[in-house]
Amino acid sequence: MHDYTMKKIGLIGGMSWESSLLYYEIINEKIRETLGGFHSAKCIMESVDFAEIEKLQHKDDWNSLNKIMANSAKNLENAKADIIVLCTNTMHLCSEEIKKSTDIPFLHIAVATGKKIKENNIKKVLLLGTKFTMEKEFFKKVLKEDFNIEVIIPNESDRDIVHQIIYKELVHGKIESNSKKEYQRIIKNSINNGAGGVILGCTEIPLLIKNKDINIPAFDTTRIHAEAAVEFALKQ
Ligand code: GLU
Repeated sequence: MHDYTMKKIGLIGGMSWESSLLYYEIINEKIRETLGGFHSAKCIMESVDFAEIEKLQHKDDWNSLNKIMANSAKNLENAKADIIVLCTNTMHLCSEEIKKSTDIPFLHIAVATGKKIKENNIKKVLLLGTKFTMEKEFFKKVLKEDFNIEVIIPNESDRDIVHQIIYKELVHGKIESNSKKEYQRIIKNSINNGAGGVILGCTEIPLLIKNKDINIPAFDTTRIHAEAAVEFALKQ
């Protein structure tokens, strides 16, 4: 019997709920694996309506998105969460506003991922995610500046394929074998360009691509982020 004080994990979810489900599962599995017995996670989720979010993203209205994310974080703090975990890579574009809106720690998905890549001693990685994540700087910057990791992204037409598969299939829970083949092709190309690993930088990609499907190490941001949340929650 352990005498643990467990912290309460605050999750901002619903982007999409398909991946929030993975977070809830991984967090609870990890708690059970670590503590055993009847243990499960202390957590709370503020889950948004993804239709509103997706519309604002594609209108490039990051002011409104910042407000929604900051407000969600505030609600979690008011509900006595000890940490904020934003269950999507893309919406980390709102990290600064989230951090400003609460006094509790924010667990950045790119920081958690950078630590894992560093541990594996990999210097150059392919980043797959939405166009926002692949093309804007917020994710790549953390890897470059904090961890000295070189990040490559697919060419323009492949970025479009990766993005469309996320928004037209994965966030709706659709897993298509042709789409898996497309991702495998894109990952294979990146190996020829020197990538030693691939970041599954969208929290739904692990629904489509598993480690066994590819020949280089995959950094599953959903799992890495969820496990880092548990590590925080159990730290004494
Ligand atoms: N969950 C995805 C991500 O990790 C995409 C959905 C969203 O736009 O938040 O980026």
